[in-house]
Amino acid sequence: MHMSTIISLDIGGTQLRAAVYAQDQREPLTHKRIKTLANEPDTFGRLLRLIEDVMPADGKVDAIGASIPGPVDPKTGIVMFAPNIKEWRDFPFAAKLMKNFGVPVFLDNDANLAGLAEWKFGAARGHHNVLYLTVSTGVGGGVIINDRLLQGSHGLAAELGHTTIQADGPLCGCGQRGHLEAFSSGTGIERFVAEQLEAGRKSILDLSKRNSARDISAAASQGDALSIEAYQVAGRYLGIGVANFLHSFNPSVVVFGGGVSQSGALLFDSFEVSLKAHVIHPRYLEGLVIARAELGDDSGLLGARALAELKLDL
Ligand SMILES: [Zn+2]
Repeated sequence: MHMSTIISLDIGGTQLRAAVYAQDQREPLTHKRIKTLANEPDTFGRLLRLIEDVMPADGKVDAIGASIPGPVDPKTGIVMFAPNIKEWRDFPFAAKLMKNFGVPVFLDNDANLAGLAEWKFGAARGHHNVLYLTVSTGVGGGVIINDRLLQGSHGLAAELGHTTIQADGPLCGCGQRGHLEAFSSGTGIERFVAEQLEAGRKSILDLSKRNSARDISAAASQGDALSIEAYQVAGRYLGIGVANFLHSFNPSVVVFGGGVSQSGALLFDSFEVSLKAHVIHPRYLEGLVIARAELGDDSGLLGARALAELKLDL
């Protein structure tokens, strides 16, 4: 029986990573990383040389999978744009790699693939219906339904951070108002604190400087009431968002990744109260597992690998 070999790529704003995986082996045969150097020309050329570097000596590879930090069309293999890599705009990523290496190329965005990685190798193993949310500077989502990644007709599904929670709410990073990301991301937490300080609210945080979500979390652990409230508000809106997603997808597990989701009770106490208050029937919560992501930095590589294996029907 042929054992397949996959080259997996994790395209990041600061690092390009490539790994070679043999079927049924969790650890890569080879793994290399280089700096993205996104402000210098020819990121794609650097990526090609990185792939050549990890290519097995016999050149036998069944597919390439890639995790992209921005919207992609997985059907056409086009990267619509990557926020950190300016030269990739409507960039025919898959076609160019296919031309160079002569194997099928599968790609998707980093949040979808982090979700797929958790389903195959991490916190959502054994579940068939999975909701993955990354809460960091933004909010990203990935959804697995009946052991398949939900991609949508244009590959644009599961942009869960851009779910409207309050039509006239605060501005989101995407330019629209009241999205989940505008409330519950690190950026949303920072905005809440900045607005309250502006309005004269007392806090141990300094109005004159930019307070990061991490600074706010540290202040909360010292008992700062404004900082605690900022996370509680984020958790409350996160609960509203996840209630919506439970109604849409009825998953058996919700996996949280991203830095803000490391905040523990500070975020999740109010999240749980809000989630319970907003589901339309308690059955949505029966047996529901709420878990932290397990794969950390390797989620991109493992997700790209899982996607290629799914598409090859392995
Ligand atoms: Zn948005």
